[in-house]
Amino acid sequence: MRAVAVSFWMEQLGPGPERPPLDGRFEADVCIVGAGYTGLWTALELRRADPSLRVIVVEKETVGFGASGRNGGWVLGALVGSRAGWSARGGEAGATALESAIRETVDKIGRRAAEEGIDCDYVKGGTLTVAQTAVQLDRLRAQQGDEELLDADELAARVRVQGALGALFSPHCARVQPAKLVRGLASAAERAGATIYERTQAVELEHGRVRTPGGEVNARWIVRATEAYTADLPGLRRQLAPVTSAMIATEPLSAEVWAELGWFGCETILDGRNLYTYVQRTADGRIALGGRGVPYVFGSGTARELSPPRSVVEHLRGRVRDLFGVDAEIASAWQGVLGVSRTWRPAVGIDEARGFAWAGGYAGDGVAAANLAARTLRDLILARDTELTRLPWVGPLEREWEPEPFRYAGIHGVHKLLGAADRRELRTGKESVFARVAGTISGRGH
Ligand SMILES: Cc1cc2nc3c(=O)[nH]c(=O)nc-3n(C[C@H](O)[C@H](O)[C@H](O)COP(=O)(O)OP(=O)(O)OC[C@H]3O[C@@H](n4cnc5c(N)ncnc54)[C@H](O)[C@@H]3O)c2cc1C
Repeated sequence: MRAVAVSFWMEQLGPGPERPPLDGRFEADVCIVGAGYTGLWTALELRRADPSLRVIVVEKETVGFGASGRNGGWVLGALVGSRAGWSARGGEAGATALESAIRETVDKIGRRAAEEGIDCDYVKGGTLTVAQTAVQLDRLRAQQGDEELLDADELAARVRVQGALGALFSPHCARVQPAKLVRGLASAAERAGATIYERTQAVELEHGRVRTPGGEVNARWIVRATEAYTADLPGLRRQLAPVTSAMIATEPLSAEVWAELGWFGCETILDGRNLYTYVQRTADGRIALGGRGVPYVFGSGTARELSPPRSVVEHLRGRVRDLFGVDAEIASAWQGVLGVSRTWRPAVGIDEARGFAWAGGYAGDGVAAANLAARTLRDLILARDTELTRLPWVGPLEREWEPEPFRYAGIHGVHKLLGAADRRELRTGKESVFARVAGTISGRGH
């Protein structure tokens, strides 16, 4: 297994174009901090909407260094958070509008990528949540909503999962190679006229000014697109908790194994466990699979440059075996941080008086959500009153996280409960109350 700097996805592409750090003093209309999906979609959308806008993006490392270059490549047409939670925030109509908007986003990403010539292995094959035990199947039945419940044979006609009893199918998901998407977006934003500076850390965000070690940008608007890394910015440690997700990619599987598995539709797959794993079939015939690793670092630490611990890699490899019956060689393992808000619901915020805007807290479901957030930020910044600006996730974060050690105890506690629920369900064949408790606290996301 090779060690990788950011992710297997980035290694596959090799080095990207070199962009210089910011050096000197610059004027802009909008300065965006962070070159992940949120920042780059926002830059692209703003420039497309108004080519006279001067848009500068500053990135502390390189394009796609954060979760956008590391994720599972699920473009999921769903936001994290329960329907009841969104209804409480935005009413039934608001929750419905939000659901439609995020579902439409899956197609919009595919179309915009095609328009911009971004080849990111986009395939919209939908998503399967697979039950391997009776308890898991009961849970799927309870969650069914407008999704299709497949029996074991119907599932096997799509993909053969070991011991599967059935699955929920939703058409609202596509698969991408995430690093290809983020790199392609950076080039598209530049072609549209935005300027990106790499190795440029914003050390202070003030009204109308972003300070970096090599200079500063004065701008009417400052967009914070730093998701999990928001915790590193002065005064913002308790906004979003940086939670870890870890992934592995197998070596390419043989044609015989693929013939055995089927999986021609490239559906993304989620297992039915409480501490779940998420999977995609890659364009070059590998299985890429992820799950929670060591969940959180005390004090909201964000560094995840080292490979995940061996125990996590072995656990993920075991999930490949358990789901697909394949004892595959692992090509590489990596991890990253995603931002989780205290309510487990994301938000898109704007402070007109101070010229700040931001979006994040997607809690592991951010690939599609970052695009919807960016189009919303565009409308907010351009002072357009649109359907997007009226969606119920627009507004301030509802709550901050508790100070330490409560934050650490809470996040690790939920993680432990979910793991314990899985063990108990396997032992007793009954749904564990731990699962309900943890699910209520945490919602569901990668
Ligand atoms: C392992 C893993 C698997 C995931 N799988 C999925 C999935 O399959 N589907 C899904 O929908 N979501 C998934 N997610 C979540 C998803 O990747 C994120 O929600 C999404 O990429 C967030 O995009 P972003 O642009 O807001 O943040 P990021 O991509 O994290 O970008 C933030 C950027 O800001 C930069 N930055 C931070 N601080 C500063 C500063 N002070 N100055 C300048 N730059 C700064 C960082 O270097 C980084 O590049 C996963 C996340 C991880 C980690």
